[in-house]
Amino acid sequence: MSSHSHDSKLSRRRFLVIGAGAVAAVPLASVVGSLKAYAQEGDKLAEDNPQAMALGYKHDATEVDTGKYPKRAGDAGAKQFCHNCNLYKGAEGDEWGACSIFPGKLVKADGWCNAWVPKAG
Ligand code: SF4
Repeated sequence: MSSHSHDSKLSRRRFLVIGAGAVAAVPLASVVGSLKAYAQEGDKLAEDNPQAMALGYKHDATEVDTGKYPKRAGDAGAKQFCHNCNLYKGAEGDEWGACSIFPGKLVKADGWCNAWVPKAG
């Protein structure tokens, strides 16, 4: 066996070790990616979903019955939207985003429900 073939065997082994590391990194990235895709392509919450109705959810926060939900009444109430709710997971600028109150569903950035809490920070 020449020293040349010994070297190439070594470098091949090193390549395989590095390759295994790279392969291990891929599944994590693809899981994160598919989770993100799932959230983006999840079902949009229907206003007549029983839980949405129980919380007075509306796609358009300005349509909320403030007589029934005084929390959204007045100047301070009028500033409440899903996009500035602490339970909203959508990215800034997205029209729809996930919400911890409605797992697997997307709520509208301009929406509102009675579980609204100010964004922390
Ligand atoms: Fe919107 Fe917040 Fe209600 Fe979720 S909890 S639907 S983000 S107002």
